[in-house]
Amino acid sequence: MHALRFDNAFVRDLPGDPETGPRLRQVHGALYSRVEPMPVVAPRLIAHSTEVAILLGIDAADIASPEFAQVFGGNALLAGMQPYAANYGGHQFGQWAGQLGDGRAITLGEAINAAGERWELQLKGAGPTPYSRSADGRAVLRSSVREFLCSEAMHHLGVPTTRALSLVATGEVVVRDMFYDGHAKPEPGAIVCRVAPSFIRFGNFELPASRGDTALLRQLIGFTIRRDFPKLHGQGESLYGDWFTQVCERTAVMVAHWMRVGFVHGVMNTDNMSILGLTIDYGPYGWIDDYDPDWTPNTTDAQGRRYRFGQQPQIACWNLTRLASALAPAFASHDPLHAGLQRYAEVYAEADRDNIARKLGLRICLEEDIELMQSLHALMHAAEVDMTLFFRALAGIDLDAPTLEPMREAFYDETKMRDAEPDFNAWLANYAERLQRDAMSDADRRTRMNAANPKYVLRNYLAQQAIDRAEQGDEAGIVELLAVMRRPYDEQPGREAFARRRPDWARDRAGCSMLSCSS
Ligand code: AMP
Ligand code: MG
Repeated sequence: MHALRFDNAFVRDLPGDPETGPRLRQVHGALYSRVEPMPVVAPRLIAHSTEVAILLGIDAADIASPEFAQVFGGNALLAGMQPYAANYGGHQFGQWAGQLGDGRAITLGEAINAAGERWELQLKGAGPTPYSRSADGRAVLRSSVREFLCSEAMHHLGVPTTRALSLVATGEVVVRDMFYDGHAKPEPGAIVCRVAPSFIRFGNFELPASRGDTALLRQLIGFTIRRDFPKLHGQGESLYGDWFTQVCERTAVMVAHWMRVGFVHGVMNTDNMSILGLTIDYGPYGWIDDYDPDWTPNTTDAQGRRYRFGQQPQIACWNLTRLASALAPAFASHDPLHAGLQRYAEVYAEADRDNIARKLGLRICLEEDIELMQSLHALMHAAEVDMTLFFRALAGIDLDAPTLEPMREAFYDETKMRDAEPDFNAWLANYAERLQRDAMSDADRRTRMNAANPKYVLRNYLAQQAIDRAEQGDEAGIVELLAVMRRPYDEQPGREAFARRRPDWARDRAGCSMLSCSS
């Protein structure tokens, strides 16, 4: 751990706030404020990601050392760390919200690993910053467990995401009113160390733009291209255009992955959109159990359902449009921005077709296959069918005599299943006929489908069970769940319990079907 080498480009190359420390303030003309994590009473490591530790060159002895929990609980700094909170704004639920910033996240530094890769280390829940507004800068155990597990689960699913190195209990309580109904209660606190090449968000560009500070905006654009998009070359306007196009392309790819695996982000505000197209800020996210494009896990979003599953591709485009508006003052012509947004639509459409081909086990997606998938989705929605179980089991049908038999486990409601069976049989007959025309061997088709349709996803109730146990003092469930989620596409004999439909008790339970932003 002491061998970690830091190259803190963000604070070195960009203008910072002259004032240090957490006093609440509006910060103008600066992209960050220097602030240190606030120490906690008794930091204790609950879980870590072996893969991320390896990525950083942190060995098992380091992880076992008491110093590890001290550093990643915010009580000590390693040589070379230069903590700061970033200053950014954002559109929240469709409205411009002004300055937001890292209210409880504190970056420790940018580590350069043995391969020369840059990995920014950031503590979430590390205490107050100038951007904490009316909140405490802390995070509760339940939301930290969810962020820790989901970051790693998403990575193993092949979805671009920020990573998580560690989950540390603080030994302190945090008071939260989970449902904003006047019933605040103390909960155990925790801190996650997030890891990503960059935590720059759309909102980092929006804030200086909103203040008419084009010089600062240009500085940040130049920095982001140099540090985070080193493969882009060229100059001036064409470089800027290529960069924006890449942001659009990456965002499209990310959202298409979400749609493939049934992930609902829940708070796609522009301050929660990564410039690298990584899934970032795991809050009231959720996973689709029964297929429902209208479902949102976020209780705050229950009314308008702005961030519902099926709307995510459109929202990403809306967010990119906000980013384009923010960048516009730095562009002489707006054509490259329009071109970038156009690329979003194209790349998303391509990725969606690729999802269809892979999820249905086809070589390529023909025009007719788009309809084939749409009609399947409509049937699944109407009959309350589990998305993950259905697609996984679909690889097992008999092409010569396809029936619903392999997919029975995916149905939540017996009656709906019986009613829908004739329609499903008709669909399966069409599908089998399409597969026959595609002429891929059974084995190849199954391999293709099983690599796109996970067996294990971090169902909301699974995370909640691990949290319930941890709050009672048994943290083994977190480690076990992480172990399962490391191999989401593999059959894992003995772990079938993690690949079942959501149980009835979880249907309407807090944490399982609805999540609060209070975290
Ligand atoms: P989110 O929607 O969770 O990404 O958060 C929106 C804004 O609120 C960001 O500026 C966060 O840093 C800030 N925030 C959320 N929770 C807290 C907290 N407990 N303390 C301080 N700031 C917070
Ligand atoms: Mg956020």
